[in-house]
Amino acid sequence: MLISLVVPCFHEADIVRRFHSHVAREIAPLAPTAEFEFVYVDDGSRDATLDHLREIAATDPRVRYVSFSRNFGKESAMLAGLRHADGDAVVIMDADLQHPPELIERMITLHSQGHDQVVARRTRAGDRVTRTLTARAYYRLVNRLVDVELVDGVGDFRLLSRRAVDAVLELTEYNRFSKGLFAWIGFPTATFSYENLVREQGRSKWTFGKLLNYGLDGVLSFNNKPLRAALYLGLLLLGCAMAYTAWIVGDALVNGVETPGYVTLLVAVTALSGVQMVMLGVVGEYVGRIYYETKRRPHFLVSETNTSPRPAPGASPYPGDSLDSLGESVARTTPAA
Ligand code: UDP
Ligand code: MG
Repeated sequence: MLISLVVPCFHEADIVRRFHSHVAREIAPLAPTAEFEFVYVDDGSRDATLDHLREIAATDPRVRYVSFSRNFGKESAMLAGLRHADGDAVVIMDADLQHPPELIERMITLHSQGHDQVVARRTRAGDRVTRTLTARAYYRLVNRLVDVELVDGVGDFRLLSRRAVDAVLELTEYNRFSKGLFAWIGFPTATFSYENLVREQGRSKWTFGKLLNYGLDGVLSFNNKPLRAALYLGLLLLGCAMAYTAWIVGDALVNGVETPGYVTLLVAVTALSGVQMVMLGVVGEYVGRIYYETKRRPHFLVSETNTSPRPAPGASPYPGDSLDSLGESVARTTPAA
């Protein structure tokens, strides 16, 4: 059995070598049952990450790497890794050793017991209290909204069977929210918890703003319920407005016209324009997504690699012919007449 380890790396020069030797040491005892390959994806780092990857690849024949032309984000890096992975199963892990390699063995065992996805769920030990509470509230909200179930602490550290990988690769959307994608594909899934580790070196690339946007992606990319909510809210407000109008008119008929309420007017105007802006924003988010999807741009561009992607299952023999062979720009070959 071949296991591919997919590792997205962005500015990980400080740790990527240590990561490699640590993992190599951890997986050595598993050799009788499983072979391994490493698929490192350099997500356009501007530090020495790529140099380190080249050196690692030169010393360890199991190592393949893909380097992007610029930073395309972790989602794209994972996608590239999955496309290049040849394994019968793929383990996705971070390069910062926050995903303990000791757990790989457990993942493989659970996989061999018939689970297509084996998910390591981190506890929130060591996180700031505010972060934990926000996360908890967020998941409660989001699970009410989205069609798939998202679980707190469940991230990208997981093993996917070959058919699960192929399923993920069939989801070619441009806006990739992998937590949702993994939940969407389903298949028998096993989950176990591990103690959260703090990052050893370097810094997390998550800023508050990025987290906020990521959270919004989660809500928006998996359903159209916010649109539905906007519709209902609009109807509710319309109902209120009609009732209020009836009351004002009735009052004027009975008691005569009195001085109109300046405050009521101001509140109504500002509140309603606020609501309208929010709704417009919701609609805009979806339109924006459609805009990006319709461009059908590749998810990433590769500038350097020592490998080539695995042909997609059922791919056209003429690369570039089928519209759904997304991803790297493939040379369009004209079949001989
Ligand atoms: N990463 C990436 N591209 C990015 C940001 C992050 O490939 O644009 C990688 C990063 O190198 C690491 C993993 O994604 O291997 C997780 O990143 P980080 O540790 O910053 O996130 P956190 O662990 O704080 O969630
Ligand atoms: Mg990390």
